[in-house]
This record gives sequence, C-alpha cells and structure tokens, in this order.
Amino acid sequence: LFIALEGPDGSGKSTIIKLIGNYLKDRGIEFVMTREPGGTLIGEEIRHIVLDEKNTAISNETEALLYAAARGQHVHEKILPSLEEGKLVLCERFVLSSLAYQGVGRELGIEKVKYINDFATRGVYPDLILFFYVDPEVTLERKTGNQGGDRLEQEGNDFHRTVYEGYMELLKLYPKNIKVIDATKSIEEVLEQSIKEVEDLLTK
Ligand code: C5P
Repeated sequence: LFIALEGPDGSGKSTIIKLIGNYLKDRGIEFVMTREPGGTLIGEEIRHIVLDEKNTAISNETEALLYAAARGQHVHEKILPSLEEGKLVLCERFVLSSLAYQGVGRELGIEKVKYINDFATRGVYPDLILFFYVDPEVTLERKTGNQGGDRLEQEGNDFHRTVYEGYMELLKLYPKNIKVIDATKSIEEVLEQSIKEVEDLLTK
C-alpha cells in the first residue's frame, strides 16, 4: 500500500508522518518512510539543486522537470521495490505537490505537469492521499517562527496563496483516493483523523 501526505508548506506533514510511522511500528506493520523531493541519493542531490537559494536562474520548466526526475528515480529505486516487497510506503509529498506548485504556482499548467509526472512515475499512484487542509493565513503565520530560508520559502505570500488555490482546484479535479484532514486542529486531533483513514485503508 502506498500512502502520500500532501498539503501546503507549514501544514504539519513532517510532524504527522513521523507520528504515523510510530503508530505503524507499534502495530507491527512493515513500512518505509520517505519524502519528496528526495528519498534517494540522486533525488536528494536534485533536492539540493531545486532548493538552493543561490539557484535563482532555474526556469519554471527546469524546476518542473527536476521535481519529476527526482520523483521518477524515487519510484524506480525505492517506492516500487518496497511495494513489491509487500511493505507499506509512507511518503511526504508526491505528484499532487508538483501539480500545485509547478502547475498552478509557476503557471505551467496542470495538464503539462501531470504529463511529465505520469511519464516519470510510470503511472504509480497512491492508494491513499492524506491532504492536510489549512488556510494559507495560518501556514504563513506558522512559518514566521520557522525561517528555513530555502529557495521556495523565499517566495512571497502571493505564491503560497496561489499554490493553496491550486490545491483547492486539484481536490475537485483529481479527488481520487484523497482524504481531507483538517490541519488547523491540534496535533493529537490531526493524528487521530489521519490514523482513522490509514486504518480504513488497512482493513479495506
Ligand atoms: O515539503 P518540503 O518542505 O520538504 O519541501 C521543500 C520545498 O519544496 C518547499 O518549500 C516546497 O514548497 C517546495 N516544493 C515545490 N514543488 C514541489 C515540491 C516541493 O516547490 N513539487
């Protein structure tokens, strides 16, 4: 089974993915926890390129291709082999992120970005996508306490609002396997909701 966590910057994905991991461990389920961009050596190198704040010269097209390339390698080297071994794969961000950030945020168009990602992933698609829903005003507020400073975090609030609107559009366009989690709630409540969805999938 393949589970992806999606949502805007600051929606709590990285906190909750670890807690879901702890839960699966306690439950005795074999799983692999991974993230995008990254997840493989090549993918982490690409992550470094796309997130380096010095790389202001990257074109939108190049950015989209780099994310897709990192994802292609991730699917090839880690996601598919793990699924074939019968492990559950828990992944922070997947194709939906590219559709929202590059397709809508960078205005490349959802269809074009979907096309290169379908190619890169060979059509591998999550059985469950936990979408962490949170208003951009809240995430931008959360972020002020956490100045990471990567290239994307340097983007203005308008960019992040556009990405958020992109996600909202995508929830309607491609709702397949997506469960919306209210990420404005407390960590305990967000975790509880997430685990409920994971359990529903496990017992399906
Ligand atoms: O989720 P994480 O913080 O690791 O992502 C790193 C950065 O990459 C974030 O700032 C996110 O906005 C950006 N990103 C992106 N396009 C993607 C995936 C992530 O711009 N497809």
